[in-house]
Amino acid sequence: MTISGVILGICLGFGLKAVEPPFDKVDIEYIKFPGTMLLQALKMCVLPLIVFSIISGIASLDSKTTGKMGGIAVAYYGTTTLLAVIEGIILCAAIRPGVTPGSSSGEVVSTSGDLATVDTLLDLIRNLLPTNIVMATFSQSSTYRKRTITTHDCRGLSPGLLGTIFDEDSYDINCITTTKAFSLTKDNVNDPDYGYNSTLCSYVQTKEEFINSEMQYECEWKGIGTNYSHTGGGPRENVLGVLFFSISLALAITRIPDKRIREVLVAFFNAMNDAILRVVFVIIWYAPIGIIFLIAPIVMSDDFNEVGLSLLRYSGTVIGGLALHSLIILPIVFILGTKDFTLRAPLNVIKYVKGVSQALLTAFATGSSSATLPLTMSTLEINNDMDQRITRFVLPIGATINMDGTALYEAVAAIYIAQAEGLPLSFGDYILISITATVASIGAAGIPQAGLVTMIIVLTAIGLPPDRVSLILAVDPILDRFRTAINVMGDAMGCGVVRANVSLDEIEQAGVQNDALEE
Ligand code: ASP
Repeated sequence: MTISGVILGICLGFGLKAVEPPFDKVDIEYIKFPGTMLLQALKMCVLPLIVFSIISGIASLDSKTTGKMGGIAVAYYGTTTLLAVIEGIILCAAIRPGVTPGSSSGEVVSTSGDLATVDTLLDLIRNLLPTNIVMATFSQSSTYRKRTITTHDCRGLSPGLLGTIFDEDSYDINCITTTKAFSLTKDNVNDPDYGYNSTLCSYVQTKEEFINSEMQYECEWKGIGTNYSHTGGGPRENVLGVLFFSISLALAITRIPDKRIREVLVAFFNAMNDAILRVVFVIIWYAPIGIIFLIAPIVMSDDFNEVGLSLLRYSGTVIGGLALHSLIILPIVFILGTKDFTLRAPLNVIKYVKGVSQALLTAFATGSSSATLPLTMSTLEINNDMDQRITRFVLPIGATINMDGTALYEAVAAIYIAQAEGLPLSFGDYILISITATVASIGAAGIPQAGLVTMIIVLTAIGLPPDRVSLILAVDPILDRFRTAINVMGDAMGCGVVRANVSLDEIEQAGVQNDALEE
């Protein structure tokens, strides 16, 4: 059914693209509407699903089993993410998609990368501990060095900041958004596209449009004697913070001395999780329809009209790397990781991936591994007969921190930009790229094009100005979909590896007697 949705979406897209006069942006937004409804409905379930599934998953088990499962999952996540980064580096260094006769050579003015890198890393850690868990469920905290922003209204936000900078003698502003990347300098500050009057988010017409745009941005303001940096924008849920809180609460529940209270709490969270999954089933029924209208606008988009040969080579490198990872590397890791289990009851890799194909297609259609989580969970449980206690524990963590596709893309994109800018990379730079690309993939939220924003970490680490992501903006929306599907595939396979290495007997013995409670 889902694949029919994708095919119908492609046909509809081509059909509508041929219509004269062509549809404008507003028309395309209308066409997208049924797809937007799917995305909204999935997102509606994500946070409750994370909270209830993690708590019911962890609290149902004793700490020994949780620790064992967590250890296996983290080892799997670490290995596959690192492999993905290494593949990206090798492919990009070998294919050299960014090297063209026209590439400039060695003229890049390095930014002082430390500020952005350290700040982004600190933000990542800061987000682990949201000051207000309810707020964290709705929005990501926005932080400056100098003050904290609570509004997401970019229009209200920027003039104040720019005003501060205007007091300075000189300034240099780098801004990346998911639709634009630029440096604000003395020369373009009066340009309505960049400057004060239009604000940094000049292309956003209204606050609603901004809130609905899912735009994220990372900006760095540098004035003489003052440094400002800011991460934020858009209604980003702080999934990492919610996840951390849920894990802490679940572990605390397992430590409650009174067994009866413990069991009541676990039964409550289990029941809530089951209830949410029932909502998910209704959404699954609607998914193929929504997917048609998410895919059609991609086909109709003009993004590719201006794509040159070098960008095609870059896209080919990313997609080739993702294909290598999903068709060869992940299956090998999966087969090795489930080897002992295979002796007992074979986990067939092809059958396994086929079981989650609806989740993979949804990931491609939505560009969001968080939004796909409800489907990843239900397809694994229903089609692959995966134990709920494993999916509930492993998948929410995977969807938040395990992004193989994003890690591979971050490495390829950074090297491509360095090649295009004529910046020679040393062996040390490649090591730096592998570390920062891994961190950037962990820090990326499971939402569309989040990886583009966290790339600031990788670029600044190797001394490239963050605004150079403008080189890859045109193809990012489509590459995002491919990498999201691979992110979800990695999570699903991680579940299989954990399942193969923890026996159900072990889980059964460790578990609270939920069944008895339910009767
Ligand atoms: N869209 C990706 C995801 O949701 C993240 C990214 O790479 O931008 O998994």
